[in-house]
Amino acid sequence: MSGTVYFVDDKYVNKENAFIHVNDIGLLRGYAVFDYLKTYFGKPFRLSDHIERLQNSARYIGLSIPYSNDEIKNICNELLNKNNFAESNIRIVVTGGVGTDSKSKGNPVLIVTCEPRILMNPEYYTDGIKLKTVEGSREISLSKTCNYIRAIDYLDEYRKLGFSEVLYVQNNKVLECTSSNAFLIKDNTIITPDTGVLMGITRKVIFEICEKFMSIETREVELDELLNADEVFISSTEREIMPVIMIDDKEISGGKVGEKTKRIHKEFIEYVKSLVWVEK
Ligand code: PLP
Repeated sequence: MSGTVYFVDDKYVNKENAFIHVNDIGLLRGYAVFDYLKTYFGKPFRLSDHIERLQNSARYIGLSIPYSNDEIKNICNELLNKNNFAESNIRIVVTGGVGTDSKSKGNPVLIVTCEPRILMNPEYYTDGIKLKTVEGSREISLSKTCNYIRAIDYLDEYRKLGFSEVLYVQNNKVLECTSSNAFLIKDNTIITPDTGVLMGITRKVIFEICEKFMSIETREVELDELLNADEVFISSTEREIMPVIMIDDKEISGGKVGEKTKRIHKEFIEYVKSLVWVEK
């Protein structure tokens, strides 16, 4: 098989031949979940965590994945071998399948795609990014469902105005961004919301690596607290740790990338380089 290879509905196929049925309720009704990870040094980063979260995402919406964690792990590793990119991004999607009508569950379909790594704009890290707040939340926050309808629309609107990410705020409480978790730093404490958000794998890694030199609080966060923080950053698989220097029209940390955020990102990179996370 030459060209990029995907896994769709029990088969390895060329990307050009990767299709699902137009009556899949993932498409018709948005009944689908996914997870997304990347490789470092060619190895899938925290693969078990991502697969476990995928299983949880499915459980939250009553979707049963007809593959064990080990089977999904093997498919991901097989795709990495077949595609052999220097670094990859892997997307694992499970759709509800084709039911007897457009409101019935069918046999879930597993899709795993593998593409060369996307590079972030390096200026995001040296100069920091701007966040736009909006009132709202994702519908089922603990589940990484395929419903990013609001996110797509907000990003289309606000990226044109120079905002890199959009932050959901509900009744003055900070939640998460469209595809990242949000954190503030006050004195030597990292504070991040504990409810109404996706349990990010990068968030989990940040907790693990930062507990030796900072305090960590997971709790409700008021918007005012975020706006008056010493530093603010966001985290995700794609972005790692990305500094925020402006929220709406309010400057954060004097409009400069904060030193503690820089240190957390540096520690994250050290952790990645240590390879202690590589799974057998
Ligand atoms: N919150 C949402 C809504 C997301 O979509 C994501 C990732 O895409 C995250 C948070 C960050 O999660 P992770 O660190 O596992 O990439």
